[in-house]
Amino acid sequence: MKMVEGTCGHCGKTIRRVSTGPMLVECDCYLYCLLCGEKMTPYTPDLTPRVYRAEGDYDSLGEATKSEATMETLFICLNHEPPLYSARKPVEVVLK
Ligand SMILES: [Zn+2]
Ligand SMILES: [Zn+2]
Repeated sequence: MKMVEGTCGHCGKTIRRVSTGPMLVECDCYLYCLLCGEKMTPYTPDLTPRVYRAEGDYDSLGEATKSEATMETLFICLNHEPPLYSARKPVEVVLK
């Protein structure tokens, strides 16, 4: 057994594990709010078509805001007004 390590391309955190060889891990930084650092709540989509637009939908009136939930939304932080919606996915980090 030896120590392997890698750096998350998103948050810059160095992850170390004891392993027999190179391995792939998921950095947990996607679980935490970008603004306040609190752990976010998993977001359960309400699939009402009226509420959710497809990603890339046109926005001729410029009414869509960045904080709006989309089909891509995975986590939500309620510490903010409006809440922060996150579509971040786990970042895979290669340890070697
Ligand atoms: Zn990370
Ligand atoms: Zn937050």
